[in-house]
Amino acid sequence: MPFRTARRARAKRCETGDSLSGLFFLRVLIMSLADDIAFCLKPRCPLCRKGKLYRPWTVSVVEKCAVCDAPLGAHDIGDGAAVFLMFILCFSIVPMAWIFELIFAPPLWVHAVLWTVVGLGAIAVMLPATKAYIIMLEWRHLKKDGDAPEA
Ligand SMILES: [Zn+2]
Repeated sequence: MPFRTARRARAKRCETGDSLSGLFFLRVLIMSLADDIAFCLKPRCPLCRKGKLYRPWTVSVVEKCAVCDAPLGAHDIGDGAAVFLMFILCFSIVPMAWIFELIFAPPLWVHAVLWTVVGLGAIAVMLPATKAYIIMLEWRHLKKDGDAPEA
């Protein structure tokens, strides 16, 4: 169930006076989370979920959605995704390298090659998903469907 559908269903239940049961709320939460993860793994336009979010072979956001003309280029996330990833990767790769050194004690060139590949690979996998998630959160919480793009 896409997030908007889940949100509408929840709002409809509130309008009709039905009380939100804990199980229903948990189901909506899980479905929303699954929808968010699917969105991050295959980044698309946060509004129509059909148009591509990035230009080919980059993490550069397109100016407009090719399907619904949403002004995707007007996002305001700056370096948020890169900084977020930098903290996560620094706090995970450095301890891994330290433990690897304590256990195997390899020559320095092994560290240089191994952790460069691991770091760049993690960035290549995680940066598009993280940036897509932040853009989706911006559209969900700061922008409405018919809003004009902010300059
Ligand atoms: Zn779109």
